[in-house]
Amino acid sequence: MVPNLKVPLSSVALSESEKKYAHDAIDSSWISSSGPYVQRLKDSLASYTKRKHVTLTSSGTSALALVLRAMDIGPGDEVIVPALTFAAPASAVAAVGATPVFVDITAADWTIDPELLPPAITTRTRALIAVDLLGHPCHFSQLERHGIPIIEDAAEAFGARYADRPVGSFGIASICSFHANKTITTGEGGCTLTDDDTIAERIALMNNHGMSPTNPYIHREIGQNFRMTNVAAAIGFGQIERCAELVAARNHVSRQYDELLGDLPIERRPVAQWAEEATWLHTVASRHKPAILQSCAQRGVDARSIWPALPDQPIFRNDWIGHEFPVARRVSAQSMWLPTWAFMPREAIESVATAIRAAHAL
Ligand SMILES: *Cc1c(COP(=O)(O)O)cnc(C)c1O
Repeated sequence: MVPNLKVPLSSVALSESEKKYAHDAIDSSWISSSGPYVQRLKDSLASYTKRKHVTLTSSGTSALALVLRAMDIGPGDEVIVPALTFAAPASAVAAVGATPVFVDITAADWTIDPELLPPAITTRTRALIAVDLLGHPCHFSQLERHGIPIIEDAAEAFGARYADRPVGSFGIASICSFHANKTITTGEGGCTLTDDDTIAERIALMNNHGMSPTNPYIHREIGQNFRMTNVAAAIGFGQIERCAELVAARNHVSRQYDELLGDLPIERRPVAQWAEEATWLHTVASRHKPAILQSCAQRGVDARSIWPALPDQPIFRNDWIGHEFPVARRVSAQSMWLPTWAFMPREAIESVATAIRAAHAL
């Protein structure tokens, strides 16, 4: 029950160009994954991230599944995952029969802690899923030193940069999500990005029913169909043309929150000096979280508590009893998402700030 909801958590910013391209795709009758916008979006994503190969998928989760399978990760294997993230990367590991191994995040930037990797690495470790958490890249140069193949999950950070490189360009392969609440969207959708020819070829094969490209209906692998439609790709093509503007607009929302809440005892999501953030949902931590969420709810502001730490999730907790993840647990316990979308009106941002202020006046 959401009484008189005034400020939603998230909204989309679709312009005339997305509508025009989507209409064009429909008018052309090319509405499956065969169609020119699929190639156009692939080319744009490849040039944006400077990656050699792109496969468009039905979601970020299906992109993760394809990358893990293309790397032959399965039963008996371990994959390191940060202890705080949306569950998809850890669930994707479990879904291929491998075991997610959780490592805490740093207090300095809230991404996986490179210093804590050595004790987590075993002879079974096959990969590390580096999640660019809440709009912020991982510390890739530190992660790379450990020699574990990196899969970058850039779902929450498209448009962010690590030093001079965009997210989506790190590790052996990256994945993105274009879900409606992410920085750029196709409704539902995602992609894989890689420079590795062999992995790219297997991903493309497995995403097309495992069917030989030269011998149709001859199946060399157990395949899937996680393809993106031309209509969705048309929307994505319009979005990526406006990517810089959309990212700047979301970052502008964060700056307004920073300005309006700067004097309150609230910690905003930290940004490392080597990072350029691409705000996903503006995230703040406070000891007064319950009071803030209650005040927001009373005023029709859909602020929300972020995810529990993964080792506390019902699907994983039995394996992690007695393990400490102090930073992930503290950040999870104190953090909330504030309503955020590109071109969010100033009055909406102010009404969120007013609700948060009211909780501190008590
Ligand atoms: C949203 C998200 C995903 C999954 O993306 P979908 O497109 O919703 O399947 C994967 N990883 C992270 C970190 C996410 O936030």
